[in-house]
Formats: sequence, C-alpha cells, structure tokens
Amino acid sequence: MTESILEIVQRHAAAAGVTRVVRIRLVVGELTGFVPDSIQFYFDALSEGTIAEGALLEIERQPGRIRCRACGRIYEPLDGQIWICPDCGGLGGEIVAGKEMYIESIEITEGDHGDQS
Ligand SMILES: [Zn+2]
Repeated sequence: MTESILEIVQRHAAAAGVTRVVRIRLVVGELTGFVPDSIQFYFDALSEGTIAEGALLEIERQPGRIRCRACGRIYEPLDGQIWICPDCGGLGGEIVAGKEMYIESIEITEGDHGDQS
C-alpha cells in the first residue's frame, strides 16, 4: 500500500523532472483500516534514498458511509466499526464511502537550490 504511494509519487516526479518531493497530500478513507501514523512510518522507511525521502505526508481522513440494506438510509458508522442503522437498527450494509485512498497533490521543489544540510 505505502509502496504504491511511493511508486505513484516517483512516477509523477520523474515525468515532471522533479528533483525533490517535500510534501504529499493523501486522502485515506476511515474504512481502509490504515492508521495515519503507520502510513507515515512505513513511508519514511521506504522512501529512504529516493527523491521523496523526508517528504511529509499530510493525511486527510475521509469518513466512512454505509447504506442500510433494509431502509436505504446512508449513515456514518460509529468508530468506523459498528454498523448499525440509526433509523431502523439494521445491521451492516453497503459501503458507499470510506474505502478510498488516493494522492490529492504532491508538493515539490524544482531545480537545484542546494542542500542546506
Ligand atoms: Zn435502516
């Protein structure tokens, strides 16, 4: 998962002739099961030695939405876990949002501005 983020970032960066990626905005659905902290952790490890090394991930959580099978109401599950329709008490349902995960934007520095370190 985190590997594919890095892959996409690298592909974009290569196409644009970018030398350094500084920030990545990521949208992560609540129902994906991914924890923002662990995404950053794995990203840091994987991006070492790449143009995205040290890039900051800005993760925007997208709330989950469930459509009740019984009455059709769309609701947000409690804690993203407990799926009980607030209208009819029906259990479960169909996921309409919250499973998505995509890169919204990538912030880069272009050219050679030198490394301050
Ligand atoms: Zn219902």
